[in-house]
Amino acid sequence: MNDSLQNAIELLVNSKHAIAYTGAGISVESGIPPFRGEDGLWNKYDPNILELSYFYLRPDKSWKVIKEIFYDFFGEAKPNKAHTVLAELEHLALIKAIVTQNIDNLHYDAGSKEVYEFHGNSRMLVCTGCNKKYMAAETNLNGVPLCTSCNDLLKPDFIFFGEKIPEVAYRKSIEAAQKADVVVIIGSTGEVYPAASIPRYAKENGAKIIEINPEKSLFTDSITDLFIKGKATEIMHELLIGIKQKI
Ligand code: NAD
Repeated sequence: MNDSLQNAIELLVNSKHAIAYTGAGISVESGIPPFRGEDGLWNKYDPNILELSYFYLRPDKSWKVIKEIFYDFFGEAKPNKAHTVLAELEHLALIKAIVTQNIDNLHYDAGSKEVYEFHGNSRMLVCTGCNKKYMAAETNLNGVPLCTSCNDLLKPDFIFFGEKIPEVAYRKSIEAAQKADVVVIIGSTGEVYPAASIPRYAKENGAKIIEINPEKSLFTDSITDLFIKGKATEIMHELLIGIKQKI
């Protein structure tokens, strides 16, 4: 076991309020590609589909691709070992909350309870007219889904480019960052703001930062204390074994 992993285990076992901060990378091994990079979704699809102005102008075109990516494709994904280890660490009271940029529901599917979805989620749809919410799984997504109350356009309940962060998730994420003494960042480039300010804010408040990623990120040389290079599932598996030997 390398020194960084050993030190991360010590930090977590001795923490009072450790939180996790997850990005698209934690779900890569569940078969969901990130947006960016060589195998990223934006190499295959036009990011315009998540521009609000385009969505209102061409809801038919937007919805066709949104359904394909976020419902047909994401819908098949199952939580991986990294998600389930986080849920187990919450159960052991060693992780108090997860701030996630992901919209794929996999933290909840893995059994985590205290999850703040910074960018919203894909399991619900919201009416762009009256805000009525719908379960995506119970809505016909072949074609453009419309509100049964006001007939306005339905949109996934995750944020599109430039949209405001959901209020409750934002507030809870800030509170979690204020309280945190340890933050475990898993699979995030740190490029997306304001999400990337959450671990930075925790660091300013004295938290130690553990980072798990096969590649360096914008966090690595700026705020990370312990960088553990590797895939989320492998590192989280080893981390849990190490923690269980200590408690
Ligand atoms: P990103 O796409 O910018 O970067 C992904 C990061 O994951 C990279 O740093 C990469 O090195 C790392 N990574 C790749 N494989 C990994 C593995 N096996 N284990 C650990 N790390 C791995 O991700 P981001 O910074 O989270 O930002 C992307 C934005 O796109 C987010 O805002 C998110 O809302 C959205 N998004 C979400 C999903 C999802 O819900 N699963 C998928 C794609 C994009």
